[in-house]
Amino acid sequence: MKKIAVFPGSFDPITKGHESIVLRAAPLFDELIVAIGINAEKQGFFPLEQRIQWIKKTFQGHSNIKVMKYQGLTVDFCKEIGARFILRGLRTSADFEFERSIGQINKQLDRTHEIETVFLLSEMEHTPLNSSIVRSVFQVGGDVNNFIPNAIDLSTFKKEQ
Ligand code: ADP
Repeated sequence: MKKIAVFPGSFDPITKGHESIVLRAAPLFDELIVAIGINAEKQGFFPLEQRIQWIKKTFQGHSNIKVMKYQGLTVDFCKEIGARFILRGLRTSADFEFERSIGQINKQLDRTHEIETVFLLSEMEHTPLNSSIVRSVFQVGGDVNNFIPNAIDLSTFKKEQ
């Protein structure tokens, strides 16, 4: 049975923290799906298709890393694509508390108990990094290049108002 993992999130935008988790986890699985959860009530800052393109570019050349989008419960998406693992990153104890509750709720939602959540610790230099800080710096014209994957460039992006 193929070992497929889903790394769910908003990736609005993808950061060096996400990139590092994905690259370190990829050798552990046959296939790793970076999955953008679509929230009908929350549009996100960067357009969905743009976020997908940035993720594709980041992991170009890594044949077992793919990007997909999904709606609804993460566990339902996992079942749909035959994934038995949910990958999450941990930066701080606050992340741990948040992730513990999501992980345990997902266990309840997955009646067959086939899906396990696996966690990787963030690299020390990525601990303070999150997409929301990148968006804030970007919105006021700051340089975000140190925070996003080297393969991508946000400077050409213009937000349509
Ligand atoms: P959400 O949409 O749930 O806020 P994010 O897109 O922010 O999700 O992140 C998705 C996953 O990536 C989460 O498991 C989160 O803990 C992890 N993550 C986010 N930033 C980092 C980072 N700097 N280092 C390691 N993991 C991270």
